[in-house]
Amino acid sequence: MWKDLTILERGRKTHMGKKKDSKICIIIIPHTEKVRRLTIPQWLPKISVISISAILMAAFLIFNNIYSSHISLEKEYNDRIAEINNLEEENRKKETELSKLKSHTKELYEKTNEVEDKLAEIEKLQRQVEKIAGIKSPSRGGRIDDDIPIEALEPTEEIQVLKEVLENKEKELLVFIDDLEKRFEYLETVPDLWPTKGRLTSTFGNRKNPFGRGVRFHYGIDIANSIGTDIWAAGSGKVVFSGYKSGLGRTIIIEHNNEYTTVYGHNSKLLVNEGDNVEKGQVISKMGSTGRSTGSHLHFEIHKNGKPIDPLTILK
Ligand SMILES: [Zn+2]
Repeated sequence: MWKDLTILERGRKTHMGKKKDSKICIIIIPHTEKVRRLTIPQWLPKISVISISAILMAAFLIFNNIYSSHISLEKEYNDRIAEINNLEEENRKKETELSKLKSHTKELYEKTNEVEDKLAEIEKLQRQVEKIAGIKSPSRGGRIDDDIPIEALEPTEEIQVLKEVLENKEKELLVFIDDLEKRFEYLETVPDLWPTKGRLTSTFGNRKNPFGRGVRFHYGIDIANSIGTDIWAAGSGKVVFSGYKSGLGRTIIIEHNNEYTTVYGHNSKLLVNEGDNVEKGQVISKMGSTGRSTGSHLHFEIHKNGKPIDPLTILK
């Protein structure tokens, strides 16, 4: 609309060295309309430029400040988010670990209980065997110390305790088995097996002399059966005599241990030799009536520590 604009500055007049009404006169000259004239004080443009510059500067500073705070906040926010994610991940891992540990601990407790049950079972069996064998294991025990509740222990400590208990138990059982073997070996040597089948015709002690008058002491028992009936070793041991003795006829004598010796008389046939080792129940001879005998029978004696005893107190 405005075709031309002319700014006229002057109107500055100095009169007698005195500054007077410094003003800027703006004359707007359109093509068609009447010329317009604007008069503004001379300081206005300067102040305006300074003010606008100051405002722009302030705006720039504020914007810059806001922008940089926004950037740093955003960065901080992102960092925090990453941190939270890490923590969550860590937490998940910890939870997984914890649940694994829990299940492991549970398993361990179950195993512990299982082991304790087995130990109790072993103890029970041990007691039964002790009763049967008539011995006592020197160091039965091996239970987990009652003063320490196993639940209070760390899993690794618990394993250690169990390991020690089991090791002790193993040692103890080895000793026990050794004792048992010895005991069974000993029991095998005890001449408590009936040496033959038949009828008990004479017992241990004083009896009427079968070959004459008066009373004679009978140092064993007589078991009668037909000639050729099997005679068994009453216990395991070593044959110390296999031959003929006056009175007893064909005789076998077995030494069983430091305690017992057995004598088998009147045999028809001897099946073992002096020096042979025999098992309990092994056939050693055949029944007969050799020596001073009134008929086919076995004369059987048991000597304990060198003295004849009543076999019926030993035979089972
Ligand atoms: Zn006799």
